[in-house]
Amino acid sequence: MKKIEEINDEIREVLLEEGAEGIYKCYQCGKCTSICPWYQVDLYDFPVYRFSLETAMGMVASSEDKNELAQEIDKIYRCVGCEACVDQCPHGIDTPKILRAAKRLLVDFGSYPETLKSTVQKIKNVGNPFGEPIENRADWAKESGVPQFQEEMDYLFFPCCLPAYDPRNQKVARATAGILQQAEISFGILGTKEHCCGEVVRRIGAEQVFTQVCKANIKEFTTSGVTKVLVSSPHCFTTFKNEYPEFGADFETLHITQFLSKLIDEGAIKPAKEFNKKVVYHDPCTLGRKNGIYEEPRNILKSIPGLELLEVEDFNRNLSVCCGAGSGGLWMEWDKDERIVNVRLKQLIDTGADIIAVACPYCLQMFEETLKSMNSEIQVMDVTEILYEAL
Ligand code: SF4
Ligand code: SF4
Repeated sequence: MKKIEEINDEIREVLLEEGAEGIYKCYQCGKCTSICPWYQVDLYDFPVYRFSLETAMGMVASSEDKNELAQEIDKIYRCVGCEACVDQCPHGIDTPKILRAAKRLLVDFGSYPETLKSTVQKIKNVGNPFGEPIENRADWAKESGVPQFQEEMDYLFFPCCLPAYDPRNQKVARATAGILQQAEISFGILGTKEHCCGEVVRRIGAEQVFTQVCKANIKEFTTSGVTKVLVSSPHCFTTFKNEYPEFGADFETLHITQFLSKLIDEGAIKPAKEFNKKVVYHDPCTLGRKNGIYEEPRNILKSIPGLELLEVEDFNRNLSVCCGAGSGGLWMEWDKDERIVNVRLKQLIDTGADIIAVACPYCLQMFEETLKSMNSEIQVMDVTEILYEAL
């Protein structure tokens, strides 16, 4: 614990300017600590309740001891922005936003994890976090015959960087396109003119790069005549819908599960083939807690004949546990015994399901990669992949 003489007014003022709101409302009840997914990771101590107080005292990332500072930075970047603490705080304190103020400060000084620096640079330089060439961005769509977006089309389909480049997630993009084609929806993609939405850049704290990315995307969408966007990723969804408007964006964004659930209700899509499996749905934090989309993915799964839908008892909907990929977590390497994803996978496996259904490319990647080192037969599928099989 730090000493009172270490109070640093200057750091506190900078953190307040960087967006650390509500810090004086914290009364140290500790609910945030007990709901945080790190609380369920046995070997990692993550005292969330202390962040407001330490920010108020300007004691964030302020140590002059190199090792102590490295530990502080590690702690700050453990926050995956799942918002479980925001959901449960009696005073509505936004702890991930407070931590993001600290991240912005660290980015300004270049004192943040090397792996995240690389992620930010790749998005800035080539428009995706993997450093892949922009010319390959639409390769996933070649065999599906998905057209380039034209102004007269109703929807832009924006698949996210993972479905664009990662071979496993490309299957999800193709399944989604296949459903839209069967339902005769007028849509296209921007292809080589498509760039990362920048959500992860903002969560890491690289605000200047985010602003550049965001403004470039808005310009591209406006020039191309985009008015409605369908997205696969909850991260693109929340950024386009909730954050781009402050930079002048004027288009409607729908998550693909919202759109497909409505088409099923209207009878435009009719799942007919049996899918005789037990399926447990994992609520992605950014789709569920952040945007209140809980029922639409379940509605899609319930419409499929033969499918038995299971829930993780006590930890579903707003109490879902993060997969650990948010806010740059996908690119961080934690010790095997210090991973949120292992906690969540155990909960999902314990339901007895054959398949984990997801509605986020980050969750898909996180679960599949981790399952390779776990002794389980459970499979991971996107909701759209399951629906496509049932058509
Ligand atoms: S739940 Fe809210 S009030 Fe309670 S310790 Fe956490 S931030 Fe403070
Ligand atoms: S946002 Fe999630 S990971 Fe971050 S402090 Fe809150 S509960 Fe913990």
